[in-house]
Amino acid sequence: MSGSGIGDDEREVPVVAHAQQPGPGGTGDLPDIAFNVPAVVGRELDYVQEAVLGGHLSSGGEFARRAAEILAADTGSPEVLMTTSCTAALELSAMLMDLQEGDTVIVPSFTFTSTGLAYARQGAGLLFCDIERRTLGLDPEHLSTLLDEHVRAVVVVHYAGVACDVEAIREVLAEWPEVRLVEDNAHGLFGTWRGEPLGSLGRYATLSFHETKNFTCGEGGALVLNDARDVDRARVLYDKGTNRHAFMLGQVDKYTWKDTGSSFGLSDVLAAYLLAQLEQREAVQAVRRRIHDHYEAALSPHGDELGFEVMRVPEEREPAHHMYYVLLSDHGRRNDVLELMRKSGVQATFHYQPLHTSDAGRAFAVRATQCPVAEDVSGRLLRLPFHNTLTDGDLDRVVAAFLEAGAATAPAR
Ligand SMILES: *Cc1c(COP(=O)(O)O)cnc(C)c1O
Repeated sequence: MSGSGIGDDEREVPVVAHAQQPGPGGTGDLPDIAFNVPAVVGRELDYVQEAVLGGHLSSGGEFARRAAEILAADTGSPEVLMTTSCTAALELSAMLMDLQEGDTVIVPSFTFTSTGLAYARQGAGLLFCDIERRTLGLDPEHLSTLLDEHVRAVVVVHYAGVACDVEAIREVLAEWPEVRLVEDNAHGLFGTWRGEPLGSLGRYATLSFHETKNFTCGEGGALVLNDARDVDRARVLYDKGTNRHAFMLGQVDKYTWKDTGSSFGLSDVLAAYLLAQLEQREAVQAVRRRIHDHYEAALSPHGDELGFEVMRVPEEREPAHHMYYVLLSDHGRRNDVLELMRKSGVQATFHYQPLHTSDAGRAFAVRATQCPVAEDVSGRLLRLPFHNTLTDGDLDRVVAAFLEAGAATAPAR
């Protein structure tokens, strides 16, 4: 491939690549192509040093303020609270809703455990909703059959950074005005739907800065508040149930215990690392867009012949390029292709096991639901290496390894 990949000369992000390990299945002298490499892309190390020498290491520091400012500007939100993880941000949203015994939260079956866990541990029962094939996001039709007077919230995920069917989901929820829409936007930061930023569409949105995400500080997250009515109480819950924030602003002369809460704040050492990553957002997203385009151009012509589908990006969506996935024709082939790719030194991988079939999912569900698309997709989905330090040569090796494995396992025609 030429032109659409990332050559060393045209690389837009000045990265410090971490040493790549020759894998056990590696091909002699070529190192394995890792699935994810958390690269340094800007001034991370300078900022961390500044944070440490500046003496403010805890939450509520200047770096966190600047990171939150970037995120709030992107979504137009009245407040963004920097948290220790996306899981913590989801938990904070659950506390804000005062979930009670008997309340239900609807979550997709095809997502990470935290999407459901955060609400279950706050006392809600879960209802697992299937996904639709077009976006792998929540299926509005299934959703419409699950709503009842116990449901307090519906959580959506913009899988791979591609917006779910927001319009149809809003139509379903129009009949249930008390039900809150939450975006678990761990994949979707800087993606859009009809020009609107992902993370600006729900009452709350959560972000992840875990090592595996587009922008990282190791472990970190944020709660995006899109309704100004939530801001004051959220700040109290965020600060161990105290009105410390109002005290810092000089609005009260001492701070005391006011409400429930926890220790949700992101250390400023980590916020410093994150701010440097966020400052490079345009360059990072441009690199990721080109990886996506490279895979799509190289793979889609072979789909029919070799029995796979490349990921789709339906119209009116600018994806956040969190990952690139393909769907093999069946589960056995997906596993065989993964195995063959690993033998050629390319670390492709599968993804979520449907939550409605897991032990904890069954235990937390208010009743069993059918999610056949989640089960089918989970068995056939394969994710290709996707990170900011992939070179043109790496992408060509990934494509070649995938096509060879696809040909070796192709169904007889
Ligand atoms: C990564 C991820 C999470 C968890 O993020 P943490 O920051 O590790 O808590 C939650 N939901 C989704 C969809 C994710 O991809």
